[in-house]
Amino acid sequence: MLYTIPDYYEAFSCTADACEDTCCAGWQIVVDEEALERYRAEKGPYRKKLREAICWRDGTFRQDPLRRCKFLKEDNLCEMYQQLGADSLCKTCRTYPRHTEEFEGVREISLSLSCPEVTRMLVGRQEPVEFLNYEKEGEEEFDGFDPFLYSYLVDTRDLMLITLKNRRLPVENRMMLMLGMAHDLEERVKKGALFSCGDVLDTYRKETYFSAAARKAERYKMDWKRRYTFSRRTFAMIRKLELLQPEWKQMRTETSRILFSGGWRGYRNLHKEFARAEVTGFDREILTEQLLVYFIFTYFCGAVYDEKIFVNAQMAAGSVALIWDFLAARWLKNGKTLDQDDVIEVIYRYSRELEHSDKNLKKIWKLLEKQAELYR
Ligand code: SF4
Repeated sequence: MLYTIPDYYEAFSCTADACEDTCCAGWQIVVDEEALERYRAEKGPYRKKLREAICWRDGTFRQDPLRRCKFLKEDNLCEMYQQLGADSLCKTCRTYPRHTEEFEGVREISLSLSCPEVTRMLVGRQEPVEFLNYEKEGEEEFDGFDPFLYSYLVDTRDLMLITLKNRRLPVENRMMLMLGMAHDLEERVKKGALFSCGDVLDTYRKETYFSAAARKAERYKMDWKRRYTFSRRTFAMIRKLELLQPEWKQMRTETSRILFSGGWRGYRNLHKEFARAEVTGFDREILTEQLLVYFIFTYFCGAVYDEKIFVNAQMAAGSVALIWDFLAARWLKNGKTLDQDDVIEVIYRYSRELEHSDKNLKKIWKLLEKQAELYR
């Protein structure tokens, strides 16, 4: 089995009781069958607590009225961990914030931005992210897996990642090239011309193609009405999504009011002023690159299961655009200042709401498919 991880993977360490927003509160923790079996078989003095704090019918940990896990103590440490040891934890608690995408003979593991500590590592990072591979025992057969499409997706993603990290180009141009690759690859796949997918990559390897992307990026950058429309429609849609944390509702409502109360001109003026303003603790271009690389690495190859190639690339671009909308609004709300802590909060909250709900992800994909023309 081939494993792929980002190069900062091993450096992650949970900050536990020092975390500003523990992952053991606010959302429901689903317990795997194996752990439930272990909890059922527990005979020691902790048996009574396990009986009470687990919802056996749903296979979840119960929560108190503040939506904190029943095992989470006031000092934000886990009582089960302290009483029964690290091996007692269920799979969700053991693995979070690690996220695994499964492909035939391959496991791609990322660290989720929904954890503030992971976001902190990425926001503070200057150098481009590299991905490391290693082999471990274990193989399996996948049903309905198309190895040819997967290998084209992997090759395309490799070129996307190289392009996104090419700091000789403005980051908007890199993003346009990434979207172009996904768009052209999907066209070939739709036509059943899988064996000509390599031509798409040959085209995008040519530096002469960069100027076409630059023109497209410039047109998009200057088209404030289009950007405003995209943002407004997206905010209207995210209002209807399943709500995981109440703080998100407040942040979303506030941001929406700040962004749209002045129409498209107000939206343009805010972004223009924000783009010129000084910020502390992060670099705009580098942060955009790190986010695009994260979303593309995590989701792009998942298109092997539904052939929705372009929408996966749009998801990366759309998420980054939305995060910048939130940051512009936060900057204005803060009296025209923005620091690293604001950025970390916006990103991890965005990720918690949108990446951790399959329902929400599906709705976003639908919206992006409808809005595809805004990127062309
Ligand atoms: S959110 Fe991250 S840092 Fe915070 S408690 Fe959970 S794993 Fe640890």
